[in-house]
Amino acid sequence: MIKGVDNNSVSPINSNSNSYNVKSGDTLSTIAKEKGVGLNNLIKANPQISDPNKIFVGQQISIPNGSSTGSFDGLSVRKSSTPDDRPPQSGILREGSKGPAVSQLQRALADKGFNPGQIDGDFGPRTEAALKAFQKSRGIEADGIYGPQSRAAFSRDAISSNEGRPSRPSRPDTKPDTNGNGSISYNGKRVSDPVLRGKLEQIADFFGRNITVTSGDRDFVPKGGSRTSLHLAHRAVDLHVQGVSDAEVFSRLKSSGILSNGYEVIRHGPNTATGGPHVHIGRYGDARPSQFKLEGVPGRAGAGQYVRV
Ligand SMILES: [Zn+2]
Repeated sequence: MIKGVDNNSVSPINSNSNSYNVKSGDTLSTIAKEKGVGLNNLIKANPQISDPNKIFVGQQISIPNGSSTGSFDGLSVRKSSTPDDRPPQSGILREGSKGPAVSQLQRALADKGFNPGQIDGDFGPRTEAALKAFQKSRGIEADGIYGPQSRAAFSRDAISSNEGRPSRPSRPDTKPDTNGNGSISYNGKRVSDPVLRGKLEQIADFFGRNITVTSGDRDFVPKGGSRTSLHLAHRAVDLHVQGVSDAEVFSRLKSSGILSNGYEVIRHGPNTATGGPHVHIGRYGDARPSQFKLEGVPGRAGAGQYVRV
């Protein structure tokens, strides 16, 4: 059903609706949420979009009226891809550089989940920190200078992602999500919060790996578990990222800025009181600064002891 009309002509915007211009970082899901319309209704209202996984900055989207009761059905949609997301293909940029090439780099970093601050074409300390974090995450020297090595790392990302290949329809929650270059195995666990599921996609893409979900919505307090756990509010997920240690997942989530506001991130270590090491992500439901905590991590936090870092 996600498959749209297979033609590239732009159909006239329905007069019984508002239009919206796609901004960098938008997905159909985020637009649907922002406008309070069901994702399916949004897709139906835009037959000109032949592939919901590919929307473009500046593209006009028709927002249907009177569909605010439409349900969000959990379809996942990859972030918009545009040539603007590509970093500059030549030259060297460093702190103090200015101009459109810097904006391009800033957009590319932001697209990968590394917050460069304002996209203003001014290579300042925040852009440098974001670039260093990107370099570190890709295993190259974190010198904060954008040159051939960083350029190559961005290209490797592009090659390993779906870019340039036909994308597939979205899958139900219980199947791996193969959109983007990361994926999510829900293993039958229910994570009913659409905002959190969207975040998981972003994290999977950020690592370019499969996320294994080990727990989601809970209606009971398990042994060692907290009575105020966000799992009970159906806004938390426990996970591992395949091929990446929990410790590294935790520190990269912290340094990347992907979860800078509104989340509680806990690394439950090998001494955890909650039944096996994992990374926990809970969504507070407001925009307070995120909290990063350790529990049951030898030398850092005892069993059942939550230490903010
Ligand atoms: Zn948890």
